[in-house]
Amino acid sequence: MWRIPRKPPAANLLARKLLRDGSSVHSLSRSNHQYQAATRNHRTKPPLAFVFDIDGVLIRGEDVLPAAKRALSILEGNNPFGMRLPYILLTNGGGVSEQQRCEKLTAKLGFEIKAAQYIQAHTILKTMSYKYTNTPVLVLGGKRDQVRQVAADYGFKKAYTSHDVLAWNSSVWPFHQLSASETAATKNIDFSQTPISAIFVFHDPRNWALDIQVICDVIQSGGIIGGPYVENQMKPVELVFCNPDLIWRSDFDRPRLGQGAFKMAFQGVFKALTGSEYPHVQFGKPTRPTYDFATQVLRDSLGHENPLPPMYMIGDNPESDIAGANAASWKSVLVKTGVFSGGQPTHEPTYIAEDVEEAVSWAIAQEYKDDVYPQK
Ligand SMILES: [Mg+2]
Repeated sequence: MWRIPRKPPAANLLARKLLRDGSSVHSLSRSNHQYQAATRNHRTKPPLAFVFDIDGVLIRGEDVLPAAKRALSILEGNNPFGMRLPYILLTNGGGVSEQQRCEKLTAKLGFEIKAAQYIQAHTILKTMSYKYTNTPVLVLGGKRDQVRQVAADYGFKKAYTSHDVLAWNSSVWPFHQLSASETAATKNIDFSQTPISAIFVFHDPRNWALDIQVICDVIQSGGIIGGPYVENQMKPVELVFCNPDLIWRSDFDRPRLGQGAFKMAFQGVFKALTGSEYPHVQFGKPTRPTYDFATQVLRDSLGHENPLPPMYMIGDNPESDIAGANAASWKSVLVKTGVFSGGQPTHEPTYIAEDVEEAVSWAIAQEYKDDVYPQK
């Protein structure tokens, strides 16, 4: 039977101290010669690093959770190591550029969040753009052509949308007429002469029917929309999804269908048409490639000369945050301020905390304890 992991007494004490003392913990700890030894040892090398989910951990709906600012203050130096502790944000959200998201988050949280420390569902596609720099690809999801702009930033120079397809030929899906603003955001492309090599679902499609139709058209013809169907393709169209979440929480009382639901709808239709599902690549939490990518981002920011410090994932969703962190052999802390609010989680975390502040304090206490009393 699952139970909350027991906290070691020394770590327990420090975690409580951090929570109790808040802003004064730094000066309190400075009087401790063990702490001073620890800071000497770690002047350049961080003793641990954090990976935070955002929704349900730092923010809920439009509001910043009160514990978030206190947690970030601890990371910025108000901790017994007396140094800024590295952290990145890892979310299954997306739809706009990392820079835009970070500007909003910085304004809300009151701490600067840099684009280099922000990974959203589709950020990993930067690692694939070299394959498709000048090759036409389809990019789906988001409002109007926002994901086209994100794709361009990543290096996809010929990224087209399903609205481009509809602007080219309205008969592709006659049940949607483009509005003036949608038309203004389209590109004039002759898709009968433009073979599509890959389809990237960046974010939740706004028009499932249109996008499922266009994906089927591209895949069945081997790239030319409206072209003859090709049974055995030499080079099948690559299909990539960025967020596997079946459901997500909005401000509405009940969960909403996510990009994972769109994928299932597409595969259901494709199987009914062809007899089998279409092979695809899946990114986003809890997939391994996304956790490997996050590790790489952190490694790049810390420099490659040092081994990575212990990684702590702080999340509210056992299915994505905790499952992925456990599989990546990170330590995981599940908070009760979002999807999970208590009971037995579906994936067992290293620790369960009331909120992000307790999570951060607990993690620091673990490493502080090991630093002061190295394990033999
Ligand atoms: Mg969350």
